[in-house]
Amino acid sequence: MSRIYERVALIGLGLIASSMAHAMRRAGVAGEITGFARSAETRDVAREIGLCDRVCDSAAETVSGADLVVLCVPVGAMGAVAAEIAPALKPGATLSDVGSVKRAVIDAVAPHLPEGVHFVPAHPLAGTEHSGPRSGFAELFDNRWCLIVPQEGSDRAAVARLEGFWQALGAHTDEMDADHHDLVLAVTSHAPHLIAYTMVGVADDLRRVTDSEVIKYSAAGFRDFTRIAASDPTMWRDVFLNNKEATLEILGRFTEELFALQRAIRIGDGDHLHAYFTRTRAIRRSIIEAGQDTDAPDFGRARQG
Ligand code: NAP
Repeated sequence: MSRIYERVALIGLGLIASSMAHAMRRAGVAGEITGFARSAETRDVAREIGLCDRVCDSAAETVSGADLVVLCVPVGAMGAVAAEIAPALKPGATLSDVGSVKRAVIDAVAPHLPEGVHFVPAHPLAGTEHSGPRSGFAELFDNRWCLIVPQEGSDRAAVARLEGFWQALGAHTDEMDADHHDLVLAVTSHAPHLIAYTMVGVADDLRRVTDSEVIKYSAAGFRDFTRIAASDPTMWRDVFLNNKEATLEILGRFTEELFALQRAIRIGDGDHLHAYFTRTRAIRRSIIEAGQDTDAPDFGRARQG
């Protein structure tokens, strides 16, 4: 694989950035990788494990001379980071991000964009419940989708280059409008996370069960909820605060369906329940057929630790 960017700067050195660093090395697409994280502790860890070629002590120094800058911080921090690095961005550079929400990030970052810098937001649909610089691995993006969200007037060559970069990291790419992205993700990721958080919270409230049976017999269903509910609290707080409308819309629909199922149980309407579960089972099959999960009992997650 040949180099796609001579210098790539990663701002934020958590799960996504560290996975990108490993995947970039695997593919040989970056000449030099620089990195910055807010805390000295994270920067020290990154240096210790050799995550980047250079870990800098300021965001501005990190992006100076970079051809691609990727913001890998929580969604709520994107605007402040963009403001900080803007004066140091090289003319002709591409600025991108990996935020789980797109409209709010674009609104927060775009006003700081200097003339001559190409802003191409993106979102790799891949993750685990782990965070920090040690949690990344090169295969995270393999066979996953990375959604690219070009802006009005985006330079097509810059967009195509970023798509090629994500493909080299193992992902499939698609282009999507920011609002549509936020609605799709509210359905596929944001609302399910909130439901998992709620379910684990409910089980925890029933303390007497939590201490024994819920943990011991958690293989069926609940164990997966606890895995999802272990995801980073800052990241997920920011997701909900910044994808408010779409998440509330989906949760409204969810609540209506839940009440309908609750009523079917109360009145003993087995036909309703059976028809509903038959429809949802078909959706699971189509996800497997699309290659987005395996039907292995561990959902193919064992390698993600
Ligand atoms: P993470 O492992 O928690 O890492 C976050 C990084 O951002 C850390 O290096 C942290 O630095 C830094 N940071 C936090 N607040 C900052 C601030 N105010 N200024 C500068 N740096 C700051 O997070 P992640 O899972 O990689 O997520 C990063 C982004 O990717 C988020 O926008 C998230 O929405 C998106 N994303 C996540 C997933 C997922 O499943 N995890 C999937 C796709 C996209 P310190 O360590 O020094 O605190």
